[in-house]
Formats: sequence, structure tokens, C-alpha cells
Amino acid sequence: MPSKNNAAEAPPPPEPLRIPVADSHTHLDMQSGTVEEALAAAAAVGVTTLVQVGCDLKGSRWAAATAAAHADIHAAVALHPNEAPRVVLGDPDGWSRQGARTPGGEAALDEQLAEIDALAALEQVKGVGETGLDYFRTGDEGRAAQERSFRAHIEIAKRHGKALVIHDRDAHEDVLRVLKEEGAPERTVFHCYSGDAEMAEICAREGYYMSFAGNVTFKNAQNLRDAVAVAPAELLLVETDAPFLTPAPWRGRPNAPYLIPVTVRAMAEVRGMPEDALCEAIAANTARAFGY
Ligand SMILES: [Zn+2]
Ligand SMILES: [Zn+2]
Repeated sequence: MPSKNNAAEAPPPPEPLRIPVADSHTHLDMQSGTVEEALAAAAAVGVTTLVQVGCDLKGSRWAAATAAAHADIHAAVALHPNEAPRVVLGDPDGWSRQGARTPGGEAALDEQLAEIDALAALEQVKGVGETGLDYFRTGDEGRAAQERSFRAHIEIAKRHGKALVIHDRDAHEDVLRVLKEEGAPERTVFHCYSGDAEMAEICAREGYYMSFAGNVTFKNAQNLRDAVAVAPAELLLVETDAPFLTPAPWRGRPNAPYLIPVTVRAMAEVRGMPEDALCEAIAANTARAFGY
């Protein structure tokens, strides 16, 4: 049983999935251990493909390089919604996890976006994101920069024919509005889906993929389980967003792609769907969403 005394200890590997799936969103560069160790641990439980997501320029370059070196890893590149305002304004109020930075104005943002654009052209880069809106960490003063960056990422994804990976925190209405105004790319993924069943129906109508993370197992997350229940099977994805959002009963321990089976099983139970059938759907959906 999980105990508070070993919070840093990695949870044991779950029973392997019989049908292999992908972790549609992970941050290997924020996890301990090597890329090879993470791939091996994941493959041992049937998680055979990973999408490595960059959150700033350095992380996006790393994602592209790592995907180039590993056939089972695909990359997504972007400036995170909390990174964009930091580039423009610095971080006077400490809204971001990383702390202060010298403000560079919109020119600095555009310069960084040009490099994201160049990375997005690479073959091993299958997604543009995570981008979107985050009203939880970014205050009112950062919203203009955040939305400007989001719109630019949408344009980049469409021009290169890549999947758009959305980060939406406490900003459902505005994310949906901006997508509509810009015209969503053909393949759009709501990473760490955080809406309710009603929003899932909107996403279903628009053909947006919904990628569920470990928080779907949290006691207080009935809205997410309601969304899992009503989302069309052909739009479901699964992710760890590791090292964050470790699924129950391992909350508080480090997360990694090899814990995907815990979340898949929770989703199968909510839907009353056989595990293998859900895995087949998720595997096909992830490949279709990212075009690999
Ligand atoms: Zn995110
Ligand atoms: Zn993420």
C-alpha cells in the first residue's frame, strides 16, 4: 500500500496491457532516469510509443533531438501558455513555476516563435504544443501575450499540417473561442482534458481529441469521469503528463509513462468497456491524431 513515508519512491509497475498503447503527452526531461530506462519500463507494460512535449525553446529543441534519436518517441514543440507571458513581460508576480526573467516584449516572443516554427517543420515533430490558455497560473496582465502566442501556434500547426496540442487550465470558453476564431487544425488534442461532460460533447462535435491523464482517478474528479463516459471512443487518448498527475493510489509519487495502464484501466471501468477494446481504440486514435 502507498505510504507517506516513501513519497519519492517510484510506484511498482502495473500489470502489462495486452494491447500496446501510446502515452500521448509526457515530459521525460523533467523525470529522473535516462530516456532508455523510461522507454524500457514503459514498453515492459505495453506502453510502446511516447509523445515528448516541449514547453520552452530549450525543451522543444530537446524533444526534437530525442525523437530523432528514438523511433518510439515523437515530439511536440511549443512555448507553454505560461512561458509566453514570461518571455514578453518577465515574471514580476511569480505566476510561473520557474520564477523571474527579463522582459523581452513581443519582439522576443516572435523571435522564439520563429524557432518553434522551424522545429515544427521537422519530420519527427508530430505536434505543435503544448499551447493554449492557462488562467490558473497566468494573471490578467499576461493574458494578451498568452493569447497572441496561442494564435501563433495554431497558425504554425496548420501551415505544417501537424497536430495541435492544447493546454487548457481554467480557460475552457476562451480556448474554444480562439480555436473557432482561428479555425482549428484538422487534428486538435486537448491534453490533460479538464472539462466536464458538456464540454466533451462540444469537443466531440468539433472532432477534437480528448487526452485523459492520471487525475481521472482522483476522488474529486467526477467531472472527468463523466467526460470519459460520454466522449466518443474514436476521440479518446491517454497520457501521463509525467512527472505530474500520478494516478491513484500513487498520488504524490513520481509519475512516468509506465504508469499509463493504471489510467487506462480506470477509463475502461468508467466506460464499462473491455480493456483490450479501449487499448485498441486509443492506439489507433493516437496514431491518427499525431499522424505517425
Ligand atoms: Zn499542460
Ligand atoms: Zn504537459
